[in-house]
Formats: sequence, C-alpha cells, structure tokens
Amino acid sequence: MKVATHGEHLVQLTQRTPLFPVNCYLVREDDGLTVVDTGLSGIAPAMLSTVRALGAPILRIALTHSHIDHVGSLDALHAALPGAEVIISTREAPLLAGNMALEAGEPGTKVRGGFTKVTTRPTRLVTPGERIGSLCVIASPGHTPGHIAFLDERDGALLAGDAFATFTSTIVSGTWRMRFPFSAIATWDKPTALATARALRALNPSRLAVGHGPVLTNPGTAMDAAIAEAARRLREGSAHAA
Ligand SMILES: [Zn+2]
Repeated sequence: MKVATHGEHLVQLTQRTPLFPVNCYLVREDDGLTVVDTGLSGIAPAMLSTVRALGAPILRIALTHSHIDHVGSLDALHAALPGAEVIISTREAPLLAGNMALEAGEPGTKVRGGFTKVTTRPTRLVTPGERIGSLCVIASPGHTPGHIAFLDERDGALLAGDAFATFTSTIVSGTWRMRFPFSAIATWDKPTALATARALRALNPSRLAVGHGPVLTNPGTAMDAAIAEAARRLREGSAHAA
C-alpha cells in the first residue's frame, strides 16, 4: 500500500489492483484520526500499521458511499477498533444494509455498482451541513443516492469519494473512459452527478481527493473541463434518446 501526505492534515493510502487504484484517507485532527472510506477487503492490517507510525488513534470511520471498494475493509477495521464511530449519510445507510429501494422524489434509475454484505452497523448517521471534526458534510448524490463528500474547513481540501475520479484523467462520476469504464458502469444517475459536480466545483477546493486516482492540488481547471465534458455528453445522449 502506498502512503502519501498532502498538506498538514491529509494522508492518502492507495491500494493497487489490476483494474484501478483504490484510495482511502486519514484526516488528522487534534484528538486523533478520521478514516474516510475503507477500500477493498484486506487493507486493514496495512492501514493499522500506518496509523501506528503516525502515533494517533483512529476515532472515526466516515464513508462517502456504500460501494464495495469503499466499505470492503469496514468490518475488519471495526473489529480492530470497536470504539471508533462509524459514520454514513442517513440516505446511504439503507444501501449499506442491502436495501436498494429508491425514495419518493428521486430519479427512477436503478442503483448501480458493486455492493457487498457488511455486518458493521453505523453508529452515527449524518446529513449535509453537519461536522465530523474539521470536515463539513457535503451533499453529493448521483454516483449513489446518498453519496456525501467532506470539505476540510481548515485548508479547503475536498474528499469527494466517487463524485469525481482522477484516474486516467479527471472525470465527473458517470463519464465513460475506455481504461476506466467503472465510473460509468457504477453511477446511478448522471444528471444528478453533474449537478453535484457543479456544486462541488463551486466550493473552490484547494485539493481534490477522490476514490480513484491521484490527489489534485488547485483542481479548478481540471474540474471545469470534466464538468464541460459531462454536460456535453449528457446533451448528446439526450439528443440521441429524443
Ligand atoms: Zn463508487
């Protein structure tokens, strides 16, 4: 597992797979660490030895969404750290528990992507605007219905989960790439994902830290280009459908 530090507060842990890299993150706080996403299964021992080297305890495990490559090591981490909070959005919690039903008012598109059975139950459900240490919870539906991002209010770093990806090049969730088709395959509702991308861009983040691909510093230009491409493809797709 590769470990990289970005600024004072953010540590990126990257798990390599034959298909694509999977990131999870450690966010340093005065009282300890918040884990953001837990990768595929099997990374808990490497994450815990990295954490030992940092000399701070994991107090919170926060999930952007419930796809298998973000919750894969949740049970193992929870078993090792039974006192740590487990945090997910109120809307995403049913998906983590295996209930894919859509709610009233949501687009009727079927939820997509890979899910796995998780026995750990969240100890805290959050809604946008709440705080997890220095992280502000940001609504970012589209990839999944209850996807959330986290904005570090100390330095403007945005942990965006799969709302964007930077593997191959920067894309909005749902944009097709030959070498990385999974964002397109696993995204629930593309118009919602595009609206989310615009809302995240409007936060003017100093860093963009995503589930798949490198952490970008000053990501505004790359986000603008990704949003323009997603908007164009959506228009063209609608034209085809009409
Ligand atoms: Zn995902």
